[in-house]
Amino acid sequence: MNKAKIVLKSGKDDAVLRQHPWIFSGAIKKTYGETNEGDIVDVYNNKDRFLGQGHWQDGSIAVRMLSFTDEEINYDFYKNRISAAYNMRDSIGLINNAKTNIYRLIFAEGDNLPGLVIDFYAGAAIIQTHSIGMYLLRHDIAKILQEIYGDRIHTIYAKSKESLPKSTAFDIENEFLFGDKESIVALENGNKFEVNWVSGQKTGFFIDQRYNRELVGQYSKGRKVLNTFCYTGGFSIYALEQGASLVHSVDSSAKAIDLTNENVELNGFGKDKHDAFAVDTMDFMKDMPEKYELIILDPPAYAKHKKVRHQAVQGYKRLNATAFKNMAPGGILFTFSCSQVVDRRLFESTVLAAAIHSGRKVKILHHLSQPADHPQNIYHAEGAYLKGLVLYVE
Ligand code: SAH
Repeated sequence: MNKAKIVLKSGKDDAVLRQHPWIFSGAIKKTYGETNEGDIVDVYNNKDRFLGQGHWQDGSIAVRMLSFTDEEINYDFYKNRISAAYNMRDSIGLINNAKTNIYRLIFAEGDNLPGLVIDFYAGAAIIQTHSIGMYLLRHDIAKILQEIYGDRIHTIYAKSKESLPKSTAFDIENEFLFGDKESIVALENGNKFEVNWVSGQKTGFFIDQRYNRELVGQYSKGRKVLNTFCYTGGFSIYALEQGASLVHSVDSSAKAIDLTNENVELNGFGKDKHDAFAVDTMDFMKDMPEKYELIILDPPAYAKHKKVRHQAVQGYKRLNATAFKNMAPGGILFTFSCSQVVDRRLFESTVLAAAIHSGRKVKILHHLSQPADHPQNIYHAEGAYLKGLVLYVE
């Protein structure tokens, strides 16, 4: 089958020449040949210079670049990329780690595999695709994972119904490609978490807060802690583990609150030190039962598109201002944004605006980001999606 040829408009090749992995539909001058979603296409500039190849998809990002050479893109190509990601994690101590068996094996553009995410939970690999090209490869990817892990893998689950464009997701189902386990108790820094990839949000757990949870643990000793948007209670467990005097967890989802309570129990903590509330964070913070000395704000992405960025900024401002206003003197605020379209500068200036609004004296203690198993491809600024600040509020 002949590959289709995509020719870019004049001047639209700058980003791809710098190895940026996305070609937007507006940059395309002409397409030669047939393009079906998920096909590999060749990309050329306006002067007929070959730029590379990637997966075609109808939509705003038309090509997700896989290679900037003319190498053949086949099973071995994907196996090499997945092995490289595995070797990187091995070299930083994540693969055979007695205390942590939760990690992200593939982080899309960060691992030169745009459209593909694979999370690993104690022998279960959850494949989540964000492009049709990667979705169509799921059986090959499962085979590669089995070749790499051998008997260290017992389950492979493909979960893309929630992550693919709605038009495609409409007629696909999530499926087991190997094994049939739906959940497992896995370890993060020695803490136990029940992870359910079938019924849970995303792939079942938010792996990207691992380092930041450690820091919350460090600062929690003797403090009254409020963990908002808690989901499975990750931050709450670390706070309890490190000797918080009290931890309150808040999430609007009753299911998340059940999961948090289960994880608290699983780690051997009782109701004396922990309570959980299924309510909206803003409602809870407007009328707080305690003066908390450490507050965590980890909301879901408020903006998924640039069009709604302004509203998202207003949302972050209100949320942070409410936390500043109600925080005990000498309290510590951990505040995050995972919206890709709100970059670090914008996030930090929004938190600044919230601090000004509250009139409190605030010091920045740490700038936080995502862990090493969510690496940022240096040519893809958008890959740095998780931003956080740790603030001391006088
Ligand atoms: N901090 C979590 C991940 C947060 S994910 C962790 O470490 O794992 C975002 C969570 O916010 C989801 O569980 C979602 O149910 C919850 N949520 C969304 N809107 C909310 C709101 N208005 N108030 C409280 N929780 C909310």
